[in-house]
Amino acid sequence: MSDIRVRFAPSPTGQIHIGNIRTALFNYLFAKENNGTFILRVEDTDQERSTSEFEEVIQQEMNWLGLKWDEGVQVGGEYGPYRQMERLELYQQYIQQLLDQDLVYRCYCTPEELEQMREKQRQNDEAPRYTGKCRNLTAAKREELESEGRKPVIRFKVPQQEKEIIVKDLVKGDVSFSSEVIDDFVLVKSDGIPTYNFAVVIDDYLMEISHVIRGEDHLSNTPKQQLLYDAFGWEAPQFAHLSMILGSDKSKLSKRSGEAYVYVSQYRENGYLPEALINFLALLGWSPDSEEELFTQEEIIEQFSLAGVTKSPAVFDVEKLNWMNGMYIRNADLEQIVNLAIPYLEEAGYNLEDKSKEWLELVVDTVRGSIDYIAEITEQVDLFFGEIEYEDYDQVVETFREDQVDLVLETLKEKVVNLNSLTPQKIKGMLKEAMNELPVGGRLFYHPLRFALTGQGSGPELYNIISILGKEEVINRLDKALALI
Ligand code: GLU
Repeated sequence: MSDIRVRFAPSPTGQIHIGNIRTALFNYLFAKENNGTFILRVEDTDQERSTSEFEEVIQQEMNWLGLKWDEGVQVGGEYGPYRQMERLELYQQYIQQLLDQDLVYRCYCTPEELEQMREKQRQNDEAPRYTGKCRNLTAAKREELESEGRKPVIRFKVPQQEKEIIVKDLVKGDVSFSSEVIDDFVLVKSDGIPTYNFAVVIDDYLMEISHVIRGEDHLSNTPKQQLLYDAFGWEAPQFAHLSMILGSDKSKLSKRSGEAYVYVSQYRENGYLPEALINFLALLGWSPDSEEELFTQEEIIEQFSLAGVTKSPAVFDVEKLNWMNGMYIRNADLEQIVNLAIPYLEEAGYNLEDKSKEWLELVVDTVRGSIDYIAEITEQVDLFFGEIEYEDYDQVVETFREDQVDLVLETLKEKVVNLNSLTPQKIKGMLKEAMNELPVGGRLFYHPLRFALTGQGSGPELYNIISILGKEEVINRLDKALALI
């Protein structure tokens, strides 16, 4: 293992967003590429919204995608515990250090007082910020406020002299912030729980994180964290902020953007393949040197580098994902796809009990070329189950009444009756033979046949359909068509 240590630090407050899992993936790839360590740390200090169920969801989705972490919750490690609520003593120790050094102070302002402060600032057209009211309280004043029952928060003393804070970001370049725009932010809340900005610094330092790779929504937090590193006299890790993911309408990808799902669970539930989703997500904000789009995970790891991560936002192109997933479905091991398809088929009410494994394999293999994700399979298999329905009855009947159709259907019926095994290969030969014997060929041959057997004008290969339907059902359907002529 190298000294490269990265972490994915989600808050277990909901379903895992596709943008978050992209962050996890980039951390994972960076670790793998550098023979480093990938850590899963759970940031559960928002006690009202964090739940162990959501933590399980995070682990489940990461496992599903194969984003195996080397250290962290569940697997342990030398830098634990890996849940922030289990690290309160550590934060306590470090806040005490800052208190002793007079780098922080207790603030007794109530939420109402803070709101009044902000209201006044708004009226004066000033940006809302904490005024530093409690910065220089005397011991006596503090005691008085405490005797009123007020519970203080602990705020950081942001240097009053204006200074430039430069975040050296591996993706964004040097990003400069003025300390003036940062007010005395809270490190510990009145209930003793640390805020994100405080806990994250302590943890990244103690866990010896070398690179912080996260979403750019945290870029504005980074100068605050930088100030804390400076206060402790610690060297900050290197930062890499990943650009936003946009929907096709170029607004931030959200539940409202429409066509794309935003949660990983939705992709899993609809039968996207983890390999395909990984491939797609890797290309969301990272450009490999080649023009290629389909990569195995090994190839991605080999080629991935932070230098290839783009500054500009990535657009989530659902059509591309669907295309990619379709490619993976077609190229995957058939048995894998069959196993994935079975629950969808059962859920849709198809009775598979009396069907053989070979039969199901043939069905799945026949239709997998026309689906983008496994859930779609239920729409493709209807023609193999139960009674046939003509999609457009009038059109079908009209086709049946065309010249020579009765001859085509009769001939086929006779040939099917005489076949002793209905393998696709045999049927292919039989269809060819029939066409040679008949006075009609091409469309005039295939079209009525397809209508008779499937009720539709297009679909999978006829030889597969006949093989799947079996002799009895093919004859039934041909008879039904012949009766309409
Ligand atoms: N818990 C934070 C989040 O989920 C982590 C941010 C970070 O990586 O520093 O957004």
